[in-house]
Amino acid sequence: MSLQATRLFSTVAGQPLESSGDLIPSLNPTVPKDVVAEFAAASEADVQQAAEAASNAFGTWSKLAGPARGDVLYKWADAINARAEELAQAIVREVGKPLGEARGEVGRCVAILRYYAGEAVRQSGDVIPSLTPGALQFSIRQPLGVAGLITPWNFPLAIPLWKAAPALAVGNTVVLKPAEEAVWCAALLSETAQAAGLPAGVFNVLLGAGDTGKALVQNELIRCVSFTGSAEVGAKVAEACARRNVKYQTEMGGKNPALVLADANLAQAANLVASGAMRFAGQKCTATSRVIVDRSVRGSFIDELQKAILALPVGDPGEMATAVGPVITEESQGRINEAVQGSESIYQASVPNQGFFVAPAVFATYQHSNLAQQELFGPVLSMIEADGLDEAIKIANNTPYGLSASLFTRDIAAALTYIHRIEAGMVRVNADTTGVDPHAPFGGVKGSSSHSREQGSVAKEFYTEIRTVQINP
Ligand code: ADP
Repeated sequence: MSLQATRLFSTVAGQPLESSGDLIPSLNPTVPKDVVAEFAAASEADVQQAAEAASNAFGTWSKLAGPARGDVLYKWADAINARAEELAQAIVREVGKPLGEARGEVGRCVAILRYYAGEAVRQSGDVIPSLTPGALQFSIRQPLGVAGLITPWNFPLAIPLWKAAPALAVGNTVVLKPAEEAVWCAALLSETAQAAGLPAGVFNVLLGAGDTGKALVQNELIRCVSFTGSAEVGAKVAEACARRNVKYQTEMGGKNPALVLADANLAQAANLVASGAMRFAGQKCTATSRVIVDRSVRGSFIDELQKAILALPVGDPGEMATAVGPVITEESQGRINEAVQGSESIYQASVPNQGFFVAPAVFATYQHSNLAQQELFGPVLSMIEADGLDEAIKIANNTPYGLSASLFTRDIAAALTYIHRIEAGMVRVNADTTGVDPHAPFGGVKGSSSHSREQGSVAKEFYTEIRTVQINP
């Protein structure tokens, strides 16, 4: 492991852009003395330069035939595949994701690019019968221009790509502002884009923190913003975009529930709840953070859950067997530990002393408590009791969020009731709250999301505007 920090630069029109200002470090959360990289944040002038580069590239890129854009995305998938192990190791080192999941993320990137390469050759638009005899009326989808993408650190390659790939497939160009905790991964992603031959200016990467993101959102050349991150920042992004009347998409927090009914297969439910809550230290937007268990099976479920959590190895994320690594920063570690302080745990695992580890733990609580309401983004599960399906659904819906939810039952009628009444964008039965196929729509309801969807063919809707055309004879 190198203890010499790599100096990173933004990439604009295929060239490194040297920003001035203090250097910001990106630390390895497992071994914090390992400074993975350092960078100077892109300024407002740098944002302008990147937006202009993307705007200049838009003319040519948007006029390319769909299959030609698709070819470029296939080449990008190949370029990532060629460096798959190196990219997985970078994810492990920079954000502490366990190796098995990091490898899975790289595989997901390849799948996403290939999927949208295919989407670039599929039809878009409809023929609509006209009131005028003999006329041809149809709709076409026009790209918006330059897409500004603001991403978090938890899926440092996959989230930038599941935004960039549909944006590019339909003809937009991109300026990406990745999370400050995941700049090395972003710089490697940028290298793969260049290796794949993406034309200069089509995919630009600006390194920086909140101020760079803010300048990007406010830049006049940015014609839409797709953001994933906290609810607090998401609200600011939405407000700034609404003022400029540009499209925005915000994917924010969750307090995802798993409901365990009395008739559930308790061993299966416990394994999937443990996995959804604890893997990658609970740092997925879709992680399970509340388990709502039927009072009549509480005791047996706790026994199964303890066994399941115990079976998830905590430690060095570089080991294939590890399920739970550190949390991303010392600040997160402190915030999570403070939030659980004073609460009595049903179960608590032990963790290494070095690195930003938080002990995986389960707390018995009630639906209105801070633990059951606040998004913690850590390996912490709140357990709440309920009497039957109706009460479990009411408790599950009692948060401002609505991203993902699971129900464990063998009763098809209960499952159908839940599918219709649960307030969540991702609704799962006998499956954990995390994980969604890369080609299926992803997003939430209520405070979790701004109501459009990412991934799948529906993602193209956000990055385009419909034009209705009529041609009379
Ligand atoms: P997290 O809690 O996951 O770190 P944040 O919402 O703080 O989520 O950050 C998500 C992304 O938003 C990061 O790339 C971050 O730099 C960026 N960001 C933070 N503040 C702002 C802001 N005011 N405007 C635009 N982007 C911002």
